Amino acid sequence: MKNRILSLIEKQRAFFETDTTKDVAFRKENLTKLKSAVKRYEQQLLDALQRDLHKSETEAYMTEIAFIYEEIRFVLKNLDSWTKPQKVKTPVSHLGSKSYLYREPYGVTLIIAPWNYPVQLQFSPLIGAISGGHTALLKPSEYTPTVSRWISELIQETFPSEYIALVEGGVEESQALLNERFDYIFFTGSVAVGKEVMKAAANYLTPLTLELGGKSPCIVDQDANIELAAKRIAWGKFTNAGQTCIAPDYVIVHEQIREEFVQQLKAVVKEFYGETPLNSEKFGKIVSKRHFTRLLAFLQDGDIEFGGQYEEVENCISPTLLENITWEDSVMKEEIFGPILPLLSFTKFEDLKNHLDKAPNPLALYYFSEDEKKQEKIINSFSFGGGCINDTVMHVANTHLPFGGVGESGMGKYHGKGSFDAFTHEKGILKQTTKFDLPVRYPSFKNSLKYV
Ligand code: NAD
Repeated sequence: MKNRILSLIEKQRAFFETDTTKDVAFRKENLTKLKSAVKRYEQQLLDALQRDLHKSETEAYMTEIAFIYEEIRFVLKNLDSWTKPQKVKTPVSHLGSKSYLYREPYGVTLIIAPWNYPVQLQFSPLIGAISGGHTALLKPSEYTPTVSRWISELIQETFPSEYIALVEGGVEESQALLNERFDYIFFTGSVAVGKEVMKAAANYLTPLTLELGGKSPCIVDQDANIELAAKRIAWGKFTNAGQTCIAPDYVIVHEQIREEFVQQLKAVVKEFYGETPLNSEKFGKIVSKRHFTRLLAFLQDGDIEFGGQYEEVENCISPTLLENITWEDSVMKEEIFGPILPLLSFTKFEDLKNHLDKAPNPLALYYFSEDEKKQEKIINSFSFGGGCINDTVMHVANTHLPFGGVGESGMGKYHGKGSFDAFTHEKGILKQTTKFDLPVRYPSFKNSLKYV
């Protein structure tokens, strides 16, 4: 394995050094190739997502495939202008010169993906790598083997390996890759593994993006539109059986509307997935027995308000609401990443602060309220990667919003222009005139400036 990895990296570095990948026409041509390849493999990828995660075709298309098409469309439209040197101001003390920002690629990139959106989270950073002018080595997750197989075939059929290649496998393969020198690393996954990736990157001072996870809170205030809040929270939480990095991890609802919110949530879950969600075509499964067993333990915490059923053959757990939960419960000690929603409550801002301080810097935060002043207060009082007012998850699907975490939930941003920025170094260049020369900076200047 080590030899194969080394040979791929060497070949990619040699190819990068030919400067072929820097050519903007080449980048656009390969983005178009990637789009056609995903189109060609669309049905295989949708079937694979059904098999590995029980994603319905509509959900898989919306959250994985369409996302890629939109990102590529947006980049193709803007790449010419992003890659042009950008003129910036020059102070009068630099008389005669002009200043520019140039964008340069780093070189050979490594993109490690998780299993929860295995198509989107492998290809979306790849779009950034191609548009920035790099070569790329991809490492999909071992937990979605059918998707991994098809992505591998798609990549091999579409790109020469000295440009874009893929290494299938799990921890061992990932560590073997991280032992080698890359010029940029883009990692999406858990906080614990993110720390390992950062340590490995430090060996070569390799710049990196870390897209990690965390406990994303969802707050429903007393003046919220409760019916809409319940619908949008249920969708954000239970899509992909809760295995979404920005899914609401827990809900903090205002005490006065608690009962009504619970009733609405119960009704909407029934509307979405029927009386028996475990049999619903629209409801996902847990990715592996290991993840399933970890989640089952959380059902011992607090009281089950609804849900709590599970099915061991397919690793399914029904949408579940837990009441009477405290921060001492195991479900509040780690990111849930499953269809289990703990409900906490508050009456005043200080209560909210006490809750949020227990798991600071989440990847996302959601706030439901009709009051714009309160919305601003929430946005400005807490540190979090990004989020929505009166919705969940949707911010991720706007190419104009850079997406990423802060603190424990990660570092760096991507999507749209953000991906191009992540995958390029901004080089500041001053172009000086030779038509004249101001002598004041030279030691030989007789009347050199004196500072008083
Ligand atoms: P993970 O960290 O276990 O694995 C991610 C990738 O790292 C996989 O390809 C895996 O093979 C590899 N890996 C695992 N252990 C490794 C090790 N010790 N050394 C090197 N590589 C290793 O994460 P996961 O379980 O696949 O995904 C779930 C996590 O990812 C959740 O925490 C979720 O919040 C987070 N996530 C974040 C985002 C985001 O955009 N911020 C998106 C999706 C998922």
